[in-house]
Amino acid sequence: FLTLNNIQKSFGPVQVVKNFNMNIEKGEFVSFLGPSGCGKTTVLRMIAGFETPTGGTLSINGKDQSSLKPNQRNIGMVFQAYALFPNMTVHDNVAFGLKVAGASKPEIDARVKEMLGLIKLDHLADRFPYQMSGGQQQRVALARALAVKPQVLLLDEPLSALDAKIRVSLREEIRQIQQQLGITTVFVTHDQEEALSISDRIVVMNAGKADQIGSPFEIYNTPATRFVASFVGTLN
Ligand code: ATP
Repeated sequence: FLTLNNIQKSFGPVQVVKNFNMNIEKGEFVSFLGPSGCGKTTVLRMIAGFETPTGGTLSINGKDQSSLKPNQRNIGMVFQAYALFPNMTVHDNVAFGLKVAGASKPEIDARVKEMLGLIKLDHLADRFPYQMSGGQQQRVALARALAVKPQVLLLDEPLSALDAKIRVSLREEIRQIQQQLGITTVFVTHDQEEALSISDRIVVMNAGKADQIGSPFEIYNTPATRFVASFVGTLN
């Protein structure tokens, strides 16, 4: 469904993503796991269209994305934190993409209500971001991303700015919503426990290439390289 075919990315002489190949199934939850600087965010940014690959092709549902700008791609994205519009209420944040798409007011109101129900924040529609916790803000960011019914959801370390307890409950909530909607999701994290607990498949990235692509069970029980074993914590 989401096909990355021999994708490469260089910044000047430095190749940060090396000949990456993968087909992500419709409805699948795939995590890119690896240490800082391994290239995982760059892969996500290429899918979103914020970076142009220096080689290879990328398609969604058979459609080549190369010539499409970010706003022409049917993608929803949640960033690490603090990405809500600070001067807009929760309702208006979630409504934003729908307005841009030209939806009518009744359509917008119905969809925002549905989205706030999904993240269980109906009662906070009139709040501003600064009046909410970090976890609540990230749920609103998720609702905003999903409101326009994207084909693919991209999550760039959406939990890393939150404290440990909220991180666990929110990752379970994200997974539950993802499965409920059946939306194809790519999640970037440096946290092995997070990737192991939430994913259908994990890509373990090491210096711009995939050391292993497999289910959490495979990654944990049969690590393909010493790097994978040490990074997922099975090698001491
Ligand atoms: P992190 O979790 O720290 O963001 P990452 O695995 O997501 O790490 P990337 O952000 O994809 O890594 O970066 C991979 C490499 O590419 C890094 O060495 C980074 O410095 C470099 N890089 C990223 N963006 C650019 C850019 N615009 N110009 C030059 N180098 C870049």
